[in-house]
Amino acid sequence: MDPRDEQARHDEAAMRLALDQAHNAWLVGEVPVGAVIVREFEGQRQVLATGYNRPITTHDPTAHAEIVALRHAAQLLGNYRLPDCELYVTLEPCAMCAMALMHARFKRVVFAAVDPKTGAAGSVVDLFANPQLNHHTAVHGGVLAEPCGSLLRNFFAERREQTRRAREAAAAAAATEPDYDIVEVIEMQDTTPGDLSDV
Ligand SMILES: [Zn+2]
Repeated sequence: MDPRDEQARHDEAAMRLALDQAHNAWLVGEVPVGAVIVREFEGQRQVLATGYNRPITTHDPTAHAEIVALRHAAQLLGNYRLPDCELYVTLEPCAMCAMALMHARFKRVVFAAVDPKTGAAGSVVDLFANPQLNHHTAVHGGVLAEPCGSLLRNFFAERREQTRRAREAAAAAAATEPDYDIVEVIEMQDTTPGDLSDV
């Protein structure tokens, strides 16, 4: 097999695992982004760690999918540098994750969909292309971009729909509710004569 086809096949298989992780994020109410770390070891590719986005559930603004997977992998190998590893993530990494992956000396980072708002691999900035910052980590985008991107779009569409429905339900409830303010005023007035006669 052509080595490029072989690489493409590996990339797609690993990104499918990252996409499964993104689904896990959705299940717990987080923005669906997933990551997988693969290591080449004695000629074999092995999945070392997985992670999905969970800053809300863990009250941790740094708990992006990449960081979650990165921490697992580093703990597992007992090393803060992971030069034999590749990370697959369903969305273009942000600046925080890009720098963490470069600090860890990752061999390669592969992402799926681009993130025009915070992407740091070419969309907003390209930290990987900066020779002052990066001497180690190759980056490649667009693997399974369509399914990974539509998962995100569907998530945000559903969330907007839920917000709209909640707003409508609140408006409908307000329109049919009895006017408690008036009832309360009448009750207060009723107690007034009693209070006065006690004086
Ligand atoms: Zn990030």
